[in-house]
Amino acid sequence: MCNIEKTLEYIFLPSCGICNKLGEGYLCKKCEKELKKYELNLYGVENINNYIEKLHVFKYEKMIRELIIQYKFNEKSYLYKTFCELIIKNKKVFDFIKSYDIIIPVPIHKTRMRKRGYNQSELIAKELAKKLNIGYNKKVLIKVKKNKPQSILNKKERKENTENVYKIINIEKIYNKRILIFDDIYTTGATINACIKELKKAEVKKIGVLTLAKD
Ligand SMILES: [Zn+2]
Repeated sequence: MCNIEKTLEYIFLPSCGICNKLGEGYLCKKCEKELKKYELNLYGVENINNYIEKLHVFKYEKMIRELIIQYKFNEKSYLYKTFCELIIKNKKVFDFIKSYDIIIPVPIHKTRMRKRGYNQSELIAKELAKKLNIGYNKKVLIKVKKNKPQSILNKKERKENTENVYKIINIEKIYNKRILIFDDIYTTGATINACIKELKKAEVKKIGVLTLAKD
């Protein structure tokens, strides 16, 4: 953390993003205990040589679902720090992230970015990279086509809706590296699979998927 950030944190003491309690960082002990009830820690490996690993931290329900909705649609962008603390307090998730070289967020289209003002996955991924001291790059996986929101579609439509939407660029930045893709919610996996398909073109060493919640 640079000096100016330290000074700002001193002036504006961090408070719990959920209940506003001061003095316990961006997530207080009480709220952490509440949220831990929804921990899923669902871990899975695909491909014979452990090439693709997936880890979903929470179940997308009740308090977690409510928080993510607030975060994405109610301009509560500051919650990214709370989510980040929540994620790294889990030892298993911490170690999982640490086993990768670079974290990349699932991109959103520039028109949606303009409307919302931020990419919810980008803020969390960047903070995780900073806290865990691993690489971060948002300029290798880009969204080249604006598609419908996945949430309004069924499984078949979701798959079609993600075709030719993502594109890999600056391949040399990730060549032979262990790459972790981060997204907020995992439902049918259509978005993540579309991203994986692109990443494979870059001959990365390993692909990991980390999502905050699984629906
Ligand atoms: Zn709290």
